[in-house]
Amino acid sequence: MTMPNFAYTRPGSLKEAIQQLSSGGARIHAGGTDLLGCLRDGVFSAKRVVSLAQIPHLQEIRPTKEGGVQIGALATVAEVAGSGAVRERYPALRKAALEVASPQLRNQGTLGGNLCQKPRCWYYRGEFHCLRKGGDRCFAARGENAYHCIFGSGGICYIVHPSDIAPVLVAFEAKVRVAGPKGARWVPVEKLHVLPGEDPQKETVLKPNEILTEILLPPPAAGTRSSYRKIRARQSWDFALAGVALALQVKEGRVEKARVVLSGAAPIPWRSGEAERILTGKRLDADTAAQAAEAAVKNAEPLEQNGYKIPLFRGVIEEELTAIAKT
Ligand SMILES: Cc1cc2nc3c(=O)[nH]c(=O)nc-3n(C[C@H](O)[C@H](O)[C@H](O)COP(=O)(O)OP(=O)(O)OC[C@H]3O[C@@H](n4cnc5c(N)ncnc54)[C@H](O)[C@@H]3O)c2cc1C
Ligand code: SF4
Repeated sequence: MTMPNFAYTRPGSLKEAIQQLSSGGARIHAGGTDLLGCLRDGVFSAKRVVSLAQIPHLQEIRPTKEGGVQIGALATVAEVAGSGAVRERYPALRKAALEVASPQLRNQGTLGGNLCQKPRCWYYRGEFHCLRKGGDRCFAARGENAYHCIFGSGGICYIVHPSDIAPVLVAFEAKVRVAGPKGARWVPVEKLHVLPGEDPQKETVLKPNEILTEILLPPPAAGTRSSYRKIRARQSWDFALAGVALALQVKEGRVEKARVVLSGAAPIPWRSGEAERILTGKRLDADTAAQAAEAAVKNAEPLEQNGYKIPLFRGVIEEELTAIAKT
């Protein structure tokens, strides 16, 4: 496939960028690692591509005075992984960033782009006019669905959210700042992504003329232990088959608060309320880990080819909880 023609602009301010995005048929260009492939392969089209590169301050990573960290949407995944404040306060975020793709892609891809990237379903990326592209059916439902979701499809669309970083941000209760024609608003990362049941053609709540400008991580509470673990089909770069982000507040060996968020599981980063309920108030030991892992997969709805994800998730959650108990 060849790249189609489109106008390319590099506005110097957020206001100008929003105006240009409001003209219709426009797309945001951050690092381009996902966008340009989608345009080249005809997954979607654009009359105009608006680069965020000239907008000041969007690349900054700053510790906040409250003890959190604010990260500009244009900070690269490599810069997030390399930030001292991230390493010190949010070890799971650093771990997840280092699990993303390859060093080249981490140097080019941005945090905002990672949160807003398009799904990897091969029908969607291929020449199939499926439901997510405005067609009338899902080809994965009865097709090749080994890498698709086991939660949250609503029987409509079976993508998994491709980001390794989003589940960790949900675990840490991070928020994103969204700028649009009517000003800016803060959205919890937990509410950023859209289930197929709400709208099968949208991945995020952003409107076409809204820009994700910053990510704000609140200060981690005392006694927080965090981790991210990802299982992939091959040792080299690949998306998650199954993964788990944990942020647990532990006091005297007992879990006071638990956030358990799965990757590779659902069309959005998937919070396991079942696992969180088992963990809360309990001593963090091997028995609790096994019970929480069992609870996390209890309501899974596998397709014909992805039933293997159930024992995979059970295993990875149990192992990661057992490992975090020893830290
Ligand atoms: C081969 C390959 C392997 C990969 N493996 C992994 C992996 O293992 N784990 C993982 O998490 N990711 C993986 N990725 C995804 C990668 O992390 C993303 O492509 C990258 O982070 C996107 O960032 P970008 O800046 O290049 O975004 P772009 O390609 O510029 O944009 C991506 C999408 O987000 C929109 N967008 C970008 N920035 C904003 C913003 N600030 N506000 C609103 N919308 C915005 C764009 O319009 C576009 O639709 C992989 C990608 C590739 C190509
Ligand atoms: S899973 Fe979603 S993206 Fe994939 S073919 Fe079905 S509707 Fe399209």
